[in-house]
Amino acid sequence: MTNAPDAFWMPFTPMRAFRQAPLLFERAEGMHYITPDGRRVLDGMAGLWCVNAGHGQPKITQAIREAAGRLDFVSSFKMSHPDAQAYAARLCDFAPEGIDHVFFVNSGSEAVDTALKIARAYHHARGAPSRTKLIGRAKGYHGMGWGGLSVSGIGRHKAAFGPLLPDVAHLPLPYERASMAFSRGRPAGGLAAAEALETLLSIHDPATVAAVIVEPVTGSGGVYPPPLGYLERLRAICDKHGILLIFDEVITGFGRLGAPFAAQAYGVRPDLMSCAKGMTNGAVPMGGVLVAGHVHEAFMAGPPEAIELLHGYTYSAHPLACAAGLATLDVFAEQDILGQVGQLLPLWEERAHQLKGAAHVADIRTAGLLCAIDLAPRAGADGARGGEANRLCLEAGVLIRNAGDTLVLSPPLVIAAQEIETIFAAVEAALARID
Ligand code: PLP
Repeated sequence: MTNAPDAFWMPFTPMRAFRQAPLLFERAEGMHYITPDGRRVLDGMAGLWCVNAGHGQPKITQAIREAAGRLDFVSSFKMSHPDAQAYAARLCDFAPEGIDHVFFVNSGSEAVDTALKIARAYHHARGAPSRTKLIGRAKGYHGMGWGGLSVSGIGRHKAAFGPLLPDVAHLPLPYERASMAFSRGRPAGGLAAAEALETLLSIHDPATVAAVIVEPVTGSGGVYPPPLGYLERLRAICDKHGILLIFDEVITGFGRLGAPFAAQAYGVRPDLMSCAKGMTNGAVPMGGVLVAGHVHEAFMAGPPEAIELLHGYTYSAHPLACAAGLATLDVFAEQDILGQVGQLLPLWEERAHQLKGAAHVADIRTAGLLCAIDLAPRAGADGARGGEANRLCLEAGVLIRNAGDTLVLSPPLVIAAQEIETIFAAVEAALARID
């Protein structure tokens, strides 16, 4: 059969509903998507939390074109190319002090699975092969690989897939609506919340634990900023027990919080960081694991001719991705993207919190240029209000996301003040229309 209209089995999409009302975007520029019939839609999600410098950045587009004409592909197994070397070095400069190596992959899911493997292999290399347990957190999203899914904290994502990795435990989400709802910035109470890790380690022998993995700000699970002191305390507990701390910075990286990574924004340095999305401004698939020097060093004790990490992907450090990554760092520097975010943050937070008191709103959380608005569910119809609000915003020309009854916003970092107003006004108008 030719031209099957449903040939594309799409990710995380209700296919039969999509066929009834397909949403197609044909072009994108700056802050907007453009539909095949020419309608402009303000992108309140930076694509899927990735187009941080805005769509169609000319320098990035040009770099990809040139790279494609120069070197279409080269393996990274026992060979490399100049852009891969250059991008690795510049990325480590962008990352926090002490993070000085990067392992390139092609997505956030691969980055997380790679980080988990590096963590286990690190302990193996140091003569502690019994350290295999991995600790994730409730509501964590770490992609769709078997490792990332195992440490994720979203039960419905796992339901259909049978046994995942054994030896995984989860921290609770450091959030209590009663005391934290409508907090501006980071809520208090982080030290007490982080003690949950000590509690877990009194159940699981700490000498069997390889790593703790958290998103510094829970992203897809609903934008939960870390309470004050929480990440610092996790760091201290991990240090005390010789456990590696992994930050999954796939969303929080590349300026989302006004600093290169959450690690810098919050002043807490993990041992490993997974990143993806904003690395290439979403223009070419790419991910990476940023690795602290002491972790890398542990792999370098064997004979020099031996492969230290038996792991990698055909497209690791793909030339087009490295070119896009280098150009993205140029754009960040030349257009002072981080400085712009810093200036926008007070307005973003203020405008978001003006929705307090709007119909159905049960909590509002912001962190950097992220925002979640929890709606009280309609009786007997969980998620209905979120879905309807999302649809009404789209009809009004604003693309947002909903995870059930939580509305989520994550626009490109180059958003103008007027566009911030457009997004929140659209949400407000939508909420006024739903019952
Ligand atoms: N980790 C986090 C924190 C994410 O938000 C995501 C995707 O949204 C992933 C991992 C997976 O990334 P990808 O979809 O590129 O595999």
